[in-house]
Amino acid sequence: MEWNNDPVFQMAQRQFDDVAEVMNLDKNVANRLREPDRAVLITVPVRMDDNRVQVFDAYRVQHNDTRGPYKGGVRYSPHVTLGEVAALSMWMTWKCSLMNLPLGGGKGGIRIDPTKHSRLELQRLTRRYTSELVGFIGPNQDIPAPDMGTNDQIMAWMMDTYSQLKGYAVPGVVTGKPISIGGSLGRTEATGRGVVFTVIEAAKVLNMTLGSQTKVAIQGFGNVGSHAAASLHEMGCKITHISDISGGYANTKGFDIPKVFEYIKANGSLKNFKDAEPISQIDVLTAPVDVVIPAATERQIDDKVAAQLKCRILAEGANGPTTTEGDKVLKERQNEVFVIPDVLANAGGVTVSYFEWVQGLQNFFWSADEINEQLSKLMTKAFMEVCDVQKRHKVYMRTAAQILGIERVAKAMLARGLYP
Ligand code: NAD
Repeated sequence: MEWNNDPVFQMAQRQFDDVAEVMNLDKNVANRLREPDRAVLITVPVRMDDNRVQVFDAYRVQHNDTRGPYKGGVRYSPHVTLGEVAALSMWMTWKCSLMNLPLGGGKGGIRIDPTKHSRLELQRLTRRYTSELVGFIGPNQDIPAPDMGTNDQIMAWMMDTYSQLKGYAVPGVVTGKPISIGGSLGRTEATGRGVVFTVIEAAKVLNMTLGSQTKVAIQGFGNVGSHAAASLHEMGCKITHISDISGGYANTKGFDIPKVFEYIKANGSLKNFKDAEPISQIDVLTAPVDVVIPAATERQIDDKVAAQLKCRILAEGANGPTTTEGDKVLKERQNEVFVIPDVLANAGGVTVSYFEWVQGLQNFFWSADEINEQLSKLMTKAFMEVCDVQKRHKVYMRTAAQILGIERVAKAMLARGLYP
């Protein structure tokens, strides 16, 4: 398949092959799971505000639905490729299974820089993309959610378009939608908060106290990075290094996170942020801090960066932030740097998406406290289960997390058997 030539997909597939070997996975199951079930390739024509029609490449990849409907975000980014979306769909399968959610893995993406388009252009793009996918998505089939470059507004347009085409309201077709149309309290903050729940558990394992003496560096200050920063700031930790696409920023005294939120709201990014020293993205990742959270994009930690990491805990908020080469170095350094792998660290988003889907199906909504309590419970349980597998198989944390995810999918596949 075309995705086999993509470096991000190759990375996901290599990780899978290695884990399959370690766990002695049934060969037939392994052959099926190393490729996604299906990919929908779409060219989306959109009328621009100046009346031209521009065409964008778009994808929806469905990796595996043995345990339940496909589930995964939709990404708007100029770097989206079929291979990237395919890799992300595979990681979603392991993530849902690792969290023991009755869902499979999917992912979508459109190759576009959303910051360069008006609200109306983005609305037309989203509506046409959704209409092209109408036969492939649905509350029992495949449920999109926000990811990089998309948000609750994009989900609202997806929900509305799908509902118009069906002839009745179908809130369950997406998660991460506004509260006014059946969204869940706590979904926006869920991934960042979930990252922090795993950091708390890792600190317990390492006998570390998290508080005013704890320094944190965060790459990416979007949905995941900003809410992780807010939670850690509330706990009294010092966020000393942050970054976004405009560059890196350091403040040894610790950033006033509510002020950073205000600045981004007013200016769109961290560009020209005062009270900070400008630094590079690599300086953020390799800063002399206790916790580093990559929360931007894939392939940021290569072998050189991995060798220079000075943190005790690396919590992967982003999907696939570590390259295969970087991961080899981290594996060798596992006694120095405790890695909380992406499929575990950033699973809070899909977990509250699952809560949103369940609330929608039951038409019964929970309080913010109930959601946070359930999220904390499920993240802590998954963290402990991964640690158990790690000890039992004497393997690296990433391998342990994937063993747990893959094991449950394999068991379900063998139980269901091959059709026809
Ligand atoms: P977002 O679009 O809200 O924010 C991305 C942030 O990263 C922005 O601050 C952007 O400026 C910055 N950024 C982008 N490219 C960068 C680069 N090359 N260098 C430095 N900074 C860069 O996206 P998000 O939803 O926060 O997602 C971030 C990561 O977390 C992605 O890998 C995504 O797949 C993953 N993730 C997101 C969710 C979710 O619920 N949103 C859930 C699980 C995983």
